[in-house]
Amino acid sequence: MKHIDTWVFDMDRTLFVADGLYHDMHGRMTQYIAERFNTNMDDAQFLRDKYFIDYGSTVAGLHIEHGIDRLEFLEYSHDVPCDGYEQVHNVAEILENLPGRKFIYTNAPHFHTERLMKILQIDHHIDGLHDIIKADYDCKPSRPAFERFIKTHDINPATACFFEDTQANLKPAHDMGMKTVWLTHLTPSCPVPPAVPYVDYMVRDMRHWYDDIYRPQNDNIENKN
Ligand SMILES: [Mg+2]
Repeated sequence: MKHIDTWVFDMDRTLFVADGLYHDMHGRMTQYIAERFNTNMDDAQFLRDKYFIDYGSTVAGLHIEHGIDRLEFLEYSHDVPCDGYEQVHNVAEILENLPGRKFIYTNAPHFHTERLMKILQIDHHIDGLHDIIKADYDCKPSRPAFERFIKTHDINPATACFFEDTQANLKPAHDMGMKTVWLTHLTPSCPVPPAVPYVDYMVRDMRHWYDDIYRPQNDNIENKN
């Protein structure tokens, strides 16, 4: 990975990992839909999942199908406490040791992501934050959205590496020439998922990638030179 000079990270369940937080956010999304359409929570959850599958994000589906105010929905659904989730992988140290520019590319809104950046203490390592609003609500894995992302930040995909927990989001990045790292969050006893051609590295989490993939490769390169 010596040729990599640009590191691109998803945020939720990639750099910041907290199942309770995402459970709360999904609950707020469902609550919003239930209140808005006067349905029970089961029907609201069905709609939430359906729009996520059909449109890549619940917010896109709600906007296209019902004209919902996207910002209002994002503010409501992300109004959950973020503190108190223990982060054990010290991603600030990992980012500090990676040479080159670093970006966060997320389907979440910037006000949520900025809160997590502060908790992780990585603000000063990040050269750019590309969120759902900057992407004009065109979410990953949209290929045009990726193209706008790399153009906006003047990124050369051939020397960039992209980290994601949502496997499908890696495909456009790989198609454009980026190295891709899929974070599975699977425990060592879980069966290994089948390989897919657009995943270059399959790891449990950021610490696994850094300690077991990046550092040995980097050390080997340094030893040879
Ligand atoms: Mg994610």
